[in-house]
Amino acid sequence: METITTISDLRERLDAERGAGRGVGFVPTMGYLHAGHLSLASASVADNPVTVVSIFVNPLQFAEGEDLDSYPRDLVSDSAQCAALGVDYLFVPSVEEMYPSPIVTVVEVPSVATPLEGLTRPHHFAGVATVVAKLFSIVGKCRAYLGAKDWQQVCVVERMVSDLSMPVEVVACPTVREPDGLAMSSRNVYLTSEERVQAPVLRAALDAGLDAIAGGETDSAVVEATMAAVVNTAGLASLEYAAAVQADSLVSDGPLHGEVRLLVAARFGKARLIDNDGTEI
Ligand code: AMP
Repeated sequence: METITTISDLRERLDAERGAGRGVGFVPTMGYLHAGHLSLASASVADNPVTVVSIFVNPLQFAEGEDLDSYPRDLVSDSAQCAALGVDYLFVPSVEEMYPSPIVTVVEVPSVATPLEGLTRPHHFAGVATVVAKLFSIVGKCRAYLGAKDWQQVCVVERMVSDLSMPVEVVACPTVREPDGLAMSSRNVYLTSEERVQAPVLRAALDAGLDAIAGGETDSAVVEATMAAVVNTAGLASLEYAAAVQADSLVSDGPLHGEVRLLVAARFGKARLIDNDGTEI
């Protein structure tokens, strides 16, 4: 595995790979890799002759007061794990390399970015879409592997790729969980041991929502109240939202139908955790 820190070096390598007929798989991350990230890298290694993983903690997607400075980092461990999986290139640009001058071009995908996460993090997805657009421009034609754990992010990136005709095939991969159901996240390290015990309540809330739908419930408000009640059984959880929506538009438009997504967000002390799952009616 080669570690690359400049845009021009990565472009040169990947152009040469494609020129030799080797297709590229790309896994964008913010590092501090866990089994969820590694499942994306494994899928890419299995599907593509060449895999590039990027590690970049993108300042654009953090608001004032969020955890940009304290976001966990461990490049030595990340690098060893990627090498062991057969990743070919690790792209680790500095903030100066990515944003040598303040970036004024912004990619916005308002329809899918506005609800849910957009309500509490109004600028988050513009930061995500902008950096992902920039990374796709650097990497070039590729398959990009994203986690369904961040469902709204997948919706934003898919819509951006489609609207802007980017030469990228988005592959959404299933959420990897701890044995007790908690979705793996770099931010789980913020949980105290008491909070960690209660955090699987998010998975339990999704299960309760799925059970209600399996029992015939199609009123999103009823499913949402069912999920909220489960989250509120955890004394250390502060619920931000529990939503039952159409999987593509992220809003409900009358009785739930077709592909439905259930999404929850809650704070546990310093940690803000999200989770989601889907079903078809
Ligand atoms: P992050 O480093 O948090 O920006 O995540 C990088 C990629 O890994 C995103 O596409 C995430 O959706 C994905 N990811 C994060 N956690 C998980 C998980 N538990 N299972 C599967 N994918 C994940």
